[in-house]
Amino acid sequence: MPKGYPSKVERTCLVCGKSFLTIPAAVQRGGGKYCSRACYHKSQAIPLETHFRKGVGQTTENGCVLWAGIKDAKGRGIIYSSTHRRGKRVFSAHRVAWELAKGAITQLENIADMVIEDRSPNRKLTPAEVRSIRRRYAEGGVSQQQLADEYGVNQTTVSTIVLRKRYRLVN
Ligand SMILES: [Zn+2]
Repeated sequence: MPKGYPSKVERTCLVCGKSFLTIPAAVQRGGGKYCSRACYHKSQAIPLETHFRKGVGQTTENGCVLWAGIKDAKGRGIIYSSTHRRGKRVFSAHRVAWELAKGAITQLENIADMVIEDRSPNRKLTPAEVRSIRRRYAEGGVSQQQLADEYGVNQTTVSTIVLRKRYRLVN
């Protein structure tokens, strides 16, 4: 090997993105991907959710999901995770189930909110109601939103009524 020939090659760690030097032989073996053992272990980590799915067993007749994974001394389902999340390695299966369900529930709530917003209640108002809305808003002490809720219409509708853009013939 000639003098000054680089015996090491520079690589970029696939986990942390840092540059590091390794021997060409390691790269030829398919290695040299991670700068340290810690980064190697991180690359091998399996998400908690995957661990959880593996532990989910059969569902009983009354809808209970049996835990087929590891249990602690008291018979509660536990999950050993290699992700070191929050510095922990052992997780309660119940807790993980709850966290996963909470994520799903939040999504459902967001969808429900969207559906409710889209419903846009906007019923037809009688001339008496239109007059009443204008009078009460002019008197003050009540917001357009409060009137909208009370009369079952949008705040925008109340606004256009007050500005006499709608129901112009009602006076
Ligand atoms: Zn690294």
